[in-house]
Amino acid sequence: MIVLSSPSGAGKTTLTRRLLADNADMVMSVSATTRLPRPGEVDGQDYYFIDKPRFSAMIDADDFLEHARVFDNYYGTPSGPVFDALEQGRDVLFDIDWQGAQQLTQAASDDLVKVFILPPSLRELEKRLRSRAQDSEEIIAKRMSKSEAEISHWAEYDYVIVNDDVEDALRKLQNVVDAERLKRRRQPWIAGFVKGLIDGA
Ligand code: 5GP
Repeated sequence: MIVLSSPSGAGKTTLTRRLLADNADMVMSVSATTRLPRPGEVDGQDYYFIDKPRFSAMIDADDFLEHARVFDNYYGTPSGPVFDALEQGRDVLFDIDWQGAQQLTQAASDDLVKVFILPPSLRELEKRLRSRAQDSEEIIAKRMSKSEAEISHWAEYDYVIVNDDVEDALRKLQNVVDAERLKRRRQPWIAGFVKGLIDGA
């Protein structure tokens, strides 16, 4: 499980898309949210857009691996698809905030890799939020004020990447994924392989 967190506008969505395109056995965890879709967002692909009563019902049914209030809306990770993907031996990528990362750490710290994406500066962050032009001034101001709070959690993550160049940041992210995959405990078959090597010698 790979968690990517960042303040809004740090380029996490682009990095996520590129990482998924380059890693066939990696799937994205699609969150449920009570916020309205932005132009171009597709239900079931970017998010499951649901209303508050439905969200509450999912909490009551214990359908979420984690959930949190972010800005004025609720966001949660449905657990079923995550367990299915992990059972199939796939990596699962999560675009969730620090609250979700903390909850996943409590639930499954052994199998979790947490990466924090930082913008090169707050000015650049605001520029990116504005160029997206999908949010109102009020929402942009709110997101900027929340950015510092999100950034203050950077030290809770295993890796930190400053995204001043998307290709460079992507290369670093892929390096993290590759190195984590090579960890001895993530290759349980290696003991048998080594035994075969020695026995066969
Ligand atoms: P946005 O509304 O811009 O898509 O997302 C706002 C924030 O909510 C982002 O920081 C994003 O990572 C976070 N987020 C999205 N889905 C989830 C989720 O399922 N759980 C948690 N805890 N945060 C989420």
